[in-house]
Amino acid sequence: MANPHANAVAQLERVAKLLAKDYQDNKASFERAIKKLKEPDVVHQTKLSIKMDDGTTKKFQAFRSQHNNARGPYKGGIRYHSDVSLEEVKALSTWMTWKCAVTGIPYGGGKGGIIVDPKKLSKAELQRLSRAYTDFLSDKIGPWIDVPAPDVNTTGEIMAWMVDQYQKNLTKKGLVQENPLGTFTGKPLGLGGSQGRDEATGLGGVMVLDKLAEKLGYKNKKKVRIAIQGFGNVGYWFAKHAHDHGYTVVAVSGSRGGVYVANGLNPEKTLACKEKNGDLTSCFCTDKACAVGNGKKISNDEVLELDVDILVPAALENVIHKGNAAKVRAKAIIEMANGPITPEADEILAKNGVILVPDVLANSGGVTVSYFEWVQNLQGYYWTHQEVISKLKPLMETSFAEMWAMKEKHQVDGRMATYLTAVKRVVDAMILRGI
Ligand code: NAD
Repeated sequence: MANPHANAVAQLERVAKLLAKDYQDNKASFERAIKKLKEPDVVHQTKLSIKMDDGTTKKFQAFRSQHNNARGPYKGGIRYHSDVSLEEVKALSTWMTWKCAVTGIPYGGGKGGIIVDPKKLSKAELQRLSRAYTDFLSDKIGPWIDVPAPDVNTTGEIMAWMVDQYQKNLTKKGLVQENPLGTFTGKPLGLGGSQGRDEATGLGGVMVLDKLAEKLGYKNKKKVRIAIQGFGNVGYWFAKHAHDHGYTVVAVSGSRGGVYVANGLNPEKTLACKEKNGDLTSCFCTDKACAVGNGKKISNDEVLELDVDILVPAALENVIHKGNAAKVRAKAIIEMANGPITPEADEILAKNGVILVPDVLANSGGVTVSYFEWVQNLQGYYWTHQEVISKLKPLMETSFAEMWAMKEKHQVDGRMATYLTAVKRVVDAMILRGI
């Protein structure tokens, strides 16, 4: 598998080449800023020792990468997955810096991860692992330092355990003035979470989809066919809101494959089926009473190659690479996962005229509502669901409009257009600080 951090650096180098002419009077500072942005400010790593239910002790490698905080505290999720690596968290934290900059929210970028398959842990083991990770991070995070959140395989419940452990650690150190609720986002509603956080990433993506459909001249949403790889938090909410907005979702897939329904599937019923059966691969049927929709089983690779209008990778990174990019038949890709397309694949897709809405813009609804959650925690004043959604919409639409204007002005692809805006904002903040 390609090195995701090398991909992130390659992207930054492409952007820096185009941006350099804006900094001719300040060349040395610009070059120092770009050099610094190629590596995180700091990566914390350790091996966590966890007592397993059978009395044995197991060690799990854990990371927290803090990429850049020129625009505000580090911000980013915590991923539990067996494929987590140092290079992955470094890349993900870099992309968080761009994402927060492109949406204009006052954060830098961070990311954490533990190499673990959480499905192999009992709930008690998972809780012990999450608390041990919080012990490791307690003096490295805080509402004005670094604000973690959920990512792949981490949940609101895990954030609640982390808040609790963090608060205990603060109390031990006599640091009770710190705001434990403002240190983690993606928390459950009953513990300082925000209305709308669960659905925010997927819904934000659909807000972008609406604007993209306008640009592409798609007048009849029903005729816009969408395939989604990944049916977790992001994939499900994207599918549900796209369906509710009138689009036709023809395929969704999970780690073991998925389901294709030519006339469009019902995401809520598909989720109910997934929850009942444990995966999606049997969530199709061929009889008239079919709830999900008449369809067939489909592999993860096939989902990416379907003849659809919009393809939505919403699972893991590097799934579209030089080996399969030419097989993508979608007219546009909305990157809801982080880093799903390699730089080589980017070039192939651009040559083939595939329009791209990059991850840092498309999936920024999540971090934007995380920011709203943090603001509410700091104020101790909570907004209604309606207020949250109505604050999210203009931010997503503005980010998309800025990307499209930049794309047309510089005649570059969507990723380059978005990165130009984001990297410039971060470099400017670093220069303002006198780097
Ligand atoms: P999740 O754990 O809820 O869901 C992940 C999905 O990916 C599941 O459907 C899983 O079955 C599928 N999957 C796992 N391994 C796979 C494989 N090898 N091939 C295909 N599918 C596979 O995670 P999520 O929160 O939905 O995150 C998905 C992506 O979106 C990640 O890249 C994450 O970084 C990104 N993201 C998430 C948020 C958020 O708010 N949750 C915000 C921004 C970006």
